[in-house]
Amino acid sequence: MPTTSSVLLPLAIDMSYDYLVPDGLQVAPGDIVRVPLGSKERLGVVLDQAVGGSGKPVDPSRLKTIIDRLDVPPMPQVSRQFIDWVAQYTMAPRGMVLRSAMSAKAAFTPVKPKMGVRLGPQIPNKVTPARQKVLQVAGDRVWSKGELAQAADVSAAIVNGLMKSGILVAELMTSETALLPDPDFAVPTLNDQQASAAASLHEAVAAHKFEALLLDGVTGAGKTEVAFEAIAQALREGRQSLFMLPEIALTNQFLKRFHERFGVQPAGWHSQISPVQRGRIWRGVASGEIRAVIGARSSLFLPFKDLGVIIVDEEHEPAYKQESQLIYHGRDMAVVRAMLGKIPVVLSSATPSIESHVNAVNGRYRHLKLTQRYAGAKLPDIVSIDLRADPPERGKWISPKLVSEMQEVFERGQQSLLFLNRRGYAPLTLCRTCGHRFECPDCSAWLVEHRFHNKLTCHHCGYSNPVPRICPSCDEKDSLVACGPGVERVAEEVVERFPDARTAILSSDLIPDIEEMRILLDKITNREIDIIIGTQLVAKGHHFPGLALVGVVDGDLGLAHGDPRAGERTYQLLQQVTGRAGRAAIAGRGLIQTYMPEHPVMCAMVSGDRDQFLQQEGEAREKGALPPYGRLAAIIVSSNETSQAANYARMLAGRAPRSSKLRVLGPAEAPIFMIRGRARFRLLIKAQRDVDIQAYIKQWLAPLPRPKGSLKLVIDIDPHSFM
Ligand code: ADP
Ligand code: ZN
Repeated sequence: MPTTSSVLLPLAIDMSYDYLVPDGLQVAPGDIVRVPLGSKERLGVVLDQAVGGSGKPVDPSRLKTIIDRLDVPPMPQVSRQFIDWVAQYTMAPRGMVLRSAMSAKAAFTPVKPKMGVRLGPQIPNKVTPARQKVLQVAGDRVWSKGELAQAADVSAAIVNGLMKSGILVAELMTSETALLPDPDFAVPTLNDQQASAAASLHEAVAAHKFEALLLDGVTGAGKTEVAFEAIAQALREGRQSLFMLPEIALTNQFLKRFHERFGVQPAGWHSQISPVQRGRIWRGVASGEIRAVIGARSSLFLPFKDLGVIIVDEEHEPAYKQESQLIYHGRDMAVVRAMLGKIPVVLSSATPSIESHVNAVNGRYRHLKLTQRYAGAKLPDIVSIDLRADPPERGKWISPKLVSEMQEVFERGQQSLLFLNRRGYAPLTLCRTCGHRFECPDCSAWLVEHRFHNKLTCHHCGYSNPVPRICPSCDEKDSLVACGPGVERVAEEVVERFPDARTAILSSDLIPDIEEMRILLDKITNREIDIIIGTQLVAKGHHFPGLALVGVVDGDLGLAHGDPRAGERTYQLLQQVTGRAGRAAIAGRGLIQTYMPEHPVMCAMVSGDRDQFLQQEGEAREKGALPPYGRLAAIIVSSNETSQAANYARMLAGRAPRSSKLRVLGPAEAPIFMIRGRARFRLLIKAQRDVDIQAYIKQWLAPLPRPKGSLKLVIDIDPHSFM
């Protein structure tokens, strides 16, 4: 009998294929191999056993042969188990999950020797401050230019300049060995609450078994500082750690804090790193040389050789949910990854999700609490402004009360932040003569004016057109009016009202990349900006010591739609953004403009009684049998032809097997009915908690005709978006 191996390929296929192992080649589960598939060669991973097929053995004479085994560290067993688990849970083909786990092409090609830089023999004693920073960190090591610039926190131009002047010289990088972070490099002195949380984390990491912990602490309590103690413990045991962030915009700041705590940079993993860097990190993580990774949700799929702890920062963040291709929730899958790896997972937040909070209250997660800001900084004092009683002037968006507080803050030389979670200038443009409204040709959505770029843009599909001078419907000239505010419009009002203030807009469409973002954030930190106008980009994680006042322009914005998490999310966002104020020595204040000051979210913000709010929301979820008390899954049927999608969705609903433990709701037109020219219908499956919802869906769909042509069916387990 010739030897065969089952190989899973990173394609949208659920089953593995069997291949013959050529004489003289040893392959083991986890090995990355090159195999023929059709007329192409593909890379795949060797599994312990065949999966997803019919189970019948294939005639060996018909099998193709493995071409070769790659000289890279194997994909560990727990990573393979994780791929399998995620595929089962999300109902995605295994190969598609594997694709996320192999998304580092350069890891599988031979490594080219790389040129680096090091300090040359002549070091001048008088240099610019920026150059000084480089000289301070360079030491006697060979660096890649990018890493050196990052470690010194300077731009690439500074490093290039030092090379030109011969202070840095080129040298071949001999090894890719990552420097080891030092758990004792800069140990902080923790206050009592912090120390007790840190002790629990040390213990959990040392136990080498699964446990979920909720690190629940007010903004500025030092959660990051405490979470670093879990990493320190993992390092002391020679194990790896993963620190997950919801937004890549936060990465640089965390790389820096990590560097200050542990003396070296961790590996940063997200969609914007270079292919070479991806390859290097993949290999380093698989070989175990890289001990610490800071990454976005996809970092869960890295082939950690010996992961000791996962930290999920801002665990409540909706950004952890990936909504396309492979649909999964990064936080939930982090808990699964920890379970499979028999390690602790730390979920950290100032405003935990209802799901995690319920788990902590009923004892399933260990609840670690930090109730005070570090070093006596006070939590901001929060007040609501009733827009019915204190409205802004016509055509303006900032109420007199907010304006006067901003004025005081400005006169004291402190910073204010105005928050509005809406990009662009105005969410709706219409013609004052004929009433024509500008709508996306491909989506059921208004076009948003972006005055800075002089464009009308669709926020759903990216469609974009210059703002016309003439109304396309009635040919009237200069008759277009903007309705409602976006951040650009609020910024315009700020400039009008505070002509002497230095202002900046923080909005993703105005900041081209994370380097620009870093520069702007530094400017704010260094108080070179007086008034910041920002979208949710500013809500998260940033630490601005000079910020005294946060004004929320439209506190009601998130409450408008019927999403079951609307209240929770609005509360989280308002709490996060007002939490930016008063993080250092100065007292902070939050003003929330609202038409509904009596709404439970506004009341909880003003009273500060978070736990009561969480409890109320939890009770409402329990009553409605919503997560975590019940289970949800969504099926979205879409097509270029409305009738085709409607018919299929109706057929689907009609064929749903009956069960007393669940209900199938719909089909209904999706709230955003058209996206990119596709009509969309939604079905919602609402089940009791003990129902195997995946098994139910599988059984339901198995006998039905597969969607063909433009018709598409998407399954979203635990949906967070209902649009
Ligand atoms: P959180 O993540 O809870 O919002 P951070 O970890 O960002 O809080 O801490 C807020 C600020 O307080 C940071 O600048 C941090 O460096 C500082 N800080 C917190 N705890 C300590 C400590 N024990 N020693 C020194 N600085 C601390
Ligand atoms: Zn569109």
